[in-house]
Amino acid sequence: MVLMIIDSHVHMYIRDMQPDSIVEAYLAPLKALEAIMDMGVEEEFIWPEFRADDKELIKGMDMAGVDKSIILPLDHGLVEKPKIDFEEMNQWVFERSEVYPDRLIPFVGIDPNRGARAIKFVEECVSKWDAKGVKVYPANGFYPQDEDLDDFWTAMEDMELVVVTHSGAAWGPLKEEYCHPSFYGAVLERHPSLKIVIAHLGGKWREESYDLLERYDNAFADCSALQGWLPSQPDMVISRLKEVAEKAPDKVFFGSDWPVFELSYTTKQWVEFVVESDWADDGVKEKLMHLNIRKILDI
Ligand SMILES: [Zn+2]
Repeated sequence: MVLMIIDSHVHMYIRDMQPDSIVEAYLAPLKALEAIMDMGVEEEFIWPEFRADDKELIKGMDMAGVDKSIILPLDHGLVEKPKIDFEEMNQWVFERSEVYPDRLIPFVGIDPNRGARAIKFVEECVSKWDAKGVKVYPANGFYPQDEDLDDFWTAMEDMELVVVTHSGAAWGPLKEEYCHPSFYGAVLERHPSLKIVIAHLGGKWREESYDLLERYDNAFADCSALQGWLPSQPDMVISRLKEVAEKAPDKVFFGSDWPVFELSYTTKQWVEFVVESDWADDGVKEKLMHLNIRKILDI
């Protein structure tokens, strides 16, 4: 048992907030699952249903026993323009989250490649909605260490925002060549008070993430998507969690990437696996499940 559960990595969207090519990419694992499980996942059926709104999120959290979730909107608009643009998308996330102030903590989803407009928009979200952080996605097409983006990182640092970044695998129109955790070394170095969370520790290139966690006080990580190995390879997941306990027990946050894995392994199952499996003592589990993230967000 742990005292509290915070899911540091969830998404919320409705269909028209994502471009077609991205929806198609997200459906690739589903289609594979359909082939294996004979589940009858029809494109025509699932595409309009590609949505995960606040009501479904709260329902999922209640089922999994999650107290609070950090919502990371996805701005892929520079890859392909969706029907609903990034401003309206973020506004929707903030408005829906206001209904559940004790449960939902929305970040701003923004592509730093939007330049001055990105900085201005984040400033607006901080003053209007008291945003606590931003989600960025290098796979859209930027190298974090690019000097042209340094004004963006400076602004995030000045506003004391937490930056969550995607890392590792990317598919469809998204390019994983941009997603090496090590690229953030230069950013962490230049901006020592900017807190950066490298998502998806435990997957691809995790040695690079551990290297950053060790070298920089302002580097953190989340373990979302690690449940992609479940239910088939529990030993692998246990060994990756043991690695967290051993190498960075104070710097990693629990995350689910909801709703990405709900059809293969629910967040309820993932929470139970992490809380109940024998990979660390209760003190370390409390840190992963809520204490570490509460510390950096001051909640
Ligand atoms: Zn995610």
